[in-house]
Amino acid sequence: MKLIGKVALLSGAILLGAGALSPAVNPPLTSEAAEIKKPPVSGFISHDELTRELTQIERTSNGNVQVEVAGYSNQGREIYTATVGTGDKVVLIQSEIHGNEKVGTKALLDMVKKIGKNNSPEMRQLREELTIVAIPMMNPDGSELNRRGNEMTWEEVIEEFPQLEGAQPTWNYYTYVNQYWDYASQPGFDVNRDFNPNLDYVPQPQDFPGNSSQAGWFITPESQTVRDVYKNLQEQFGTVDVFIDLHHQGEYVIEGTDDPVTLSLSGLFVPNPSTPEGEKYRQYADQYNEEFSKQLNVAAYNALQEMGNSPFGNISLYPQGLDLPGTALGTFALNGSGTVLFEITGQTQNFGQKKMGQLTKAVETGVLGILNSVATGEVHELDVEDYDEIPLTER
Ligand SMILES: [Zn+2]
Repeated sequence: MKLIGKVALLSGAILLGAGALSPAVNPPLTSEAAEIKKPPVSGFISHDELTRELTQIERTSNGNVQVEVAGYSNQGREIYTATVGTGDKVVLIQSEIHGNEKVGTKALLDMVKKIGKNNSPEMRQLREELTIVAIPMMNPDGSELNRRGNEMTWEEVIEEFPQLEGAQPTWNYYTYVNQYWDYASQPGFDVNRDFNPNLDYVPQPQDFPGNSSQAGWFITPESQTVRDVYKNLQEQFGTVDVFIDLHHQGEYVIEGTDDPVTLSLSGLFVPNPSTPEGEKYRQYADQYNEEFSKQLNVAAYNALQEMGNSPFGNISLYPQGLDLPGTALGTFALNGSGTVLFEITGQTQNFGQKKMGQLTKAVETGVLGILNSVATGEVHELDVEDYDEIPLTER
């Protein structure tokens, strides 16, 4: 599958699904490259602002929003959960697992505020039917550096897991330098390859360095934190019904058109365990629910189409046929959650904060479409086949 189109290559995008993470695609720093200036991102939310805003939202929500520290990043920054609603259907939503993918954090805060504070019948229904757990800025160290990876060395991993002494560093460990980032001085991991469908997995040296079609290891504190939130919800509710992950991609057009993609959606990250291709995931076959994931994506797509003749209609399907068990989406899908990926246009290091308002609104529209559909139960009536009618991305 061809994952990187020419537009994406020009914009230096790194995809969720791409194996193109090696230094080969990240040319070494040259004096010319060093002069490239990243556009400002001050319109996005910093970790300090996140802390202040969450505190404010909780205080003014009339008891509807609970904010907690779920864990700490490797550099000691708080990773928060903001919980709203008391229903028995559970929706977990996270943003910024890649720290240069910032629109989702803004959208997530807006949504928590709205659902927590607004007393319209629609918002009251969401609070009554759903328990929504938001993890905005799941990788705060990456966010502060406006980069994909967290900030953590292999030596720190060995300290935490002495059994890995002598093992090779993982394939998703970054130590390169390019025009945007200096991972040589501040190494880090792609946290979105550090998940393992076995939520009780303990790192074993024979599983290193691994690769993109193998599971991750929960070696980063960020993935451990989200794993623990997920397991706590499983204990409390039995299952986490829905998991939504908010990302960014490069700039694309809808296949066969000149229409720029506003965002792409997807619900499939591993081969179906009930098919021959998914044989290695057979133990998860009973809980894996491909149809529900597709219906959730259709709910988001329909809500965006209802916005009418506008950029909000320019929604495409992300590449299918992936096998990424180390992603949060792949791992939680195998654990029985309906899953939705949002890939918003433009990586922050080169796209900056262009169209921030419009893109934020698009994400909110899609996510609220999902939440309403789950709260009313209408999601189960949606035609699974509509998923395959979502136009593809031209790549
Ligand atoms: Zn991403």
